[in-house]
Amino acid sequence: MSKQENFFQLSPQGFENFITEELKQKKFVAKQVLDWVYQKKVFDFSLMTNLKKDLREILQERFKFEVPNVVYQLKAADHSTIKVTLELSDKKQIETVFMKEDRGVTICISSQVGCAQKCIFCATGKMYGLRNLQAHEIVGQIIALQEMLGDKFPENFRVVYMGMGEPLNNINQVFKSLEILTDSKGFNIGSRKITMSTSGVVKGIYRLADRFPQVQLAISLHTVDEQLRKKWVPNQKETVKEILQAARDFIKTTGRKITFELVLFGGSQVSTSKLNLLGKALKGIHCNVNAIPYNPIEDGPQYLTRPTHQEVEYFKDIMSKWHREITVRVSRGRDIQAACGQLAIKNS
Ligand code: SAH
Ligand code: SF4
Repeated sequence: MSKQENFFQLSPQGFENFITEELKQKKFVAKQVLDWVYQKKVFDFSLMTNLKKDLREILQERFKFEVPNVVYQLKAADHSTIKVTLELSDKKQIETVFMKEDRGVTICISSQVGCAQKCIFCATGKMYGLRNLQAHEIVGQIIALQEMLGDKFPENFRVVYMGMGEPLNNINQVFKSLEILTDSKGFNIGSRKITMSTSGVVKGIYRLADRFPQVQLAISLHTVDEQLRKKWVPNQKETVKEILQAARDFIKTTGRKITFELVLFGGSQVSTSKLNLLGKALKGIHCNVNAIPYNPIEDGPQYLTRPTHQEVEYFKDIMSKWHREITVRVSRGRDIQAACGQLAIKNS
């Protein structure tokens, strides 16, 4: 018997091909199975009563429904955020964050264990044991939450690839996960409700524009000062100039507005000259700017500090002079270390 494959590793289209080409069955059989899995959330072929018994047995031998295990969950004091630690089959752990806001639920998913970019302000970059997640481990995070929350899991939600890892450094599996999430026979989530956040992997930005032009792009730019960025995002190959060009090209190809994310630090980082440089560089680019006040991390550089309220206001003042749409993100879940940049599993 061949090794069982994880059902969630196949895109709905891939499963349909398997049914029609390998099993020589009609297309609607695939539709029936996908309906059981993604609509009725039944993860057991023996319960799929409208399928022939021998087919159920074949499928049962061939596929398993395995999702990451919830090993730990932490709720923020105001119950708006739940940080879930999940264990993968090789015992490595990742984190997924469930956020309930006025505008609805957002699920923040991880794409890698650790991250090779090693931004100096990010806890994920300090983890050991880097590896890419498989597509089934990416979508499995959502299924694990679904199972954990039962009736409390919402019908509609947004997905952001802003958990652990650099998604565009794991592009094949991340794209496969996008296929599963966006397919009408899969999770059926509108591409516009999905945000891909990247530290600026240029090749990946072009591939995203080509393959998933409706997915929202967020680029974690932080600064336009080449030297400073090299210090903050030490393993990034691309220059700020190349990243900005990729941003312009993405907008041109897709006709969509993008977001620049900036971790906002205190002190000299919010100087007038630095902010004007930023405003000027982004002039003419169809974008929002989303600033995230720095959430200090353990073992982070001492000179990086969280900005004061006044510094955040000053940032907004200067940037709005450059006619940018500015939002400052209220980091959810700071009290449970679930805020941006605070995701890391200790001693992995
Ligand atoms: N690797 C991707 C996505 C995951 S990081 C990326 O870098 O975009 C998600 C967001 O959290 C990024 O915008 C990142 O810059 C931000 N972030 C990382 N560490 C942070 C910290 N300590 N405080 C605030 N934001 C942080
Ligand atoms: Fe990786 Fe993003 Fe963290 Fe940088 S901020 S180390 S790219 S996860």
